[in-house]
Amino acid sequence: MVKREQIQMDIVFVGAGPANLAAALHLKNLIRKHNEEVEAGIKKSEKIEDVEIAIVEKGSSVGAHILSGAVMNPKALKELMPDFLEQGCPIDTEVKSDAFWYLTEKMKFESPITPPPLRNHGYYIVSLSRICEWLAEKCEQAGINIFPEFPATEILYDKNDAVIGVRIGEKGIGKDGKPKANYEPGVDLLAKVTVLGEGPRGSLAKQLISRLGLDKDREPAVYSLGIKELWEVPAGSFKEGHVVHTLGFPSDSQTYGGGWIYGMKNNIVSIGYVTGLDYLDPMIDPHAEFQKFKTHPAISRILQGGKLIKYGAKTINAGGWHTMPQLYADGVLLVGDTASFLNSQRLKGIHTAMKSGMLAAETILEALIKNDFSSNVLRHYERKVNNSWLYDELHPVRNFHGAFQRGRWSALINAGLQFLSGGFAWGFIDRESHQAGHERMLKLDQVKNGNKRYEDLKFDKKLTFDKLTNVYYGSVAHNEDQPPHLHILDPEICATRCVEEYGNPCERFCPAAVYEMEFNQKTGRKELKINFTNCVHCKTCDIIDPYQIINWVTPEGGGGPNYKGM
Ligand SMILES: Cc1cc2nc3c(=O)[nH]c(=O)nc-3n(C[C@H](O)[C@H](O)[C@H](O)COP(=O)(O)OP(=O)(O)OC[C@H]3O[C@@H](n4cnc5c(N)ncnc54)[C@H](O)[C@@H]3O)c2cc1C
Repeated sequence: MVKREQIQMDIVFVGAGPANLAAALHLKNLIRKHNEEVEAGIKKSEKIEDVEIAIVEKGSSVGAHILSGAVMNPKALKELMPDFLEQGCPIDTEVKSDAFWYLTEKMKFESPITPPPLRNHGYYIVSLSRICEWLAEKCEQAGINIFPEFPATEILYDKNDAVIGVRIGEKGIGKDGKPKANYEPGVDLLAKVTVLGEGPRGSLAKQLISRLGLDKDREPAVYSLGIKELWEVPAGSFKEGHVVHTLGFPSDSQTYGGGWIYGMKNNIVSIGYVTGLDYLDPMIDPHAEFQKFKTHPAISRILQGGKLIKYGAKTINAGGWHTMPQLYADGVLLVGDTASFLNSQRLKGIHTAMKSGMLAAETILEALIKNDFSSNVLRHYERKVNNSWLYDELHPVRNFHGAFQRGRWSALINAGLQFLSGGFAWGFIDRESHQAGHERMLKLDQVKNGNKRYEDLKFDKKLTFDKLTNVYYGSVAHNEDQPPHLHILDPEICATRCVEEYGNPCERFCPAAVYEMEFNQKTGRKELKINFTNCVHCKTCDIIDPYQIINWVTPEGGGGPNYKGM
């Protein structure tokens, strides 16, 4: 039996993303204010003292696993820290202009007016990784403990299924599953409240939601995959502060997809493409979609003469309001992308993640005052969400992504009508509830011409890059001597049914070339090989695998991409 150390905390935040960093800092501020008011006799209550707060992060440092566009709406940050600019928030540049392009294969049509959801006046272009590093410094200055290289692998429950903390992954297990000389058992962090802010498809949230049935009566979660590159382009190629969103090429009209180009300081351009992980054709390869996007004349013109600096890929919660799980249970709260707080109509989740974290913090303050960490108090978090601007922003766009599952054109008509009607689902055009992405994928014999999608796409390593080259630009590193963190629950399916039915889509949907069907001399057939060291932690495989036999779990702490500055 492994002997694990138990560390008693009060509040443990899993994941150092914007949701949890804002939550922890807000909680510290609220406790300070509460104590001052009690001391001054303004509030009749007890002081709350010696609250130990910890944030655990699986990346090698805060920001290492943070990938975003990013145009940031500063609404939540202003509430958290009204003087965020004076306090040195590392914004890159202010948005100065917006455009919306519809792309056909060769042509670009610029909309004379930018649709209101895509207007970004007053927002900032940022590296979210840098913003998180900066917020982490503020947290540490406020006395919050931050533990990088601490992947939470398991939720700890008491006998009544109340959450009582998390188990941190062990270090030093070899690929044979046996402890090595440097073996360290992970600690158990015990907490009165555990806050899951793991981003999209949290590996702990997945366990919790399924065990406690927190998704009962909710629509299935749906996701997109965002693939991003940072480029340095020749001066004058793209204006600093200019924001472009695109629709059309290369996605077909049945596939949810769109691109972005954001002009940053020093001729740096953030460019990316989002593909809905509820596509029909198993031959779709989101990485190839992005590479194809860059070959469009309107895009390649911007990048010509420039150079690739960094690469990353990460999933995005696209379902919104209808797909939110129950946000609380005894001893636990769910925040940010983990709880589907992203506004997919605007591709914006930073401010909503932060606000959800702040409302979670306000609920935790209440729990600390009442010394009650059960659902009796934690359920107030949902009420706070419903009474906040999160509801006002997310409820009217609740049917946005669902409509796209019926194709681009009916979705656009719906989007217009929803904008005018406050989000009403226009049933006479189409039904708009969600279907889980993996359930939608068609079998090979139901698809025409899938194999021809990328016939013309060549990786020239100037404009377009193959997956392995891109992974290199993601600065991805995992210790090779550890068991793969991608658990295939039934490898036999990969070598048999999946070959015939879907043509092993894992080779295409993974943007980091983790999955490879390799000929095995002994068995005389192709079998799955997992190059887990390439993994960028995007979780696409866990989401879209049509058989749901890939389980993504956290690898040894510190492994993964390094998105510093992305
Ligand atoms: C490509 C892309 C472009 C985007 N563009 C924009 C944009 O322009 N504007 C905008 O507002 N939003 C954008 N978003 C969305 C936005 O980035 C997210 O909504 C936001 O980052 C969510 O914050 P979060 O704190 O919930 O999660 P995350 O930012 O995902 O942070 C979660 C953190 O938790 C850590 N973690 C996860 N599991 C564990 C575990 N078990 N143990 C320890 N640590 C763990 C992760 O390593 C990560 O650091 C974009 C997203 C993507 C992927």
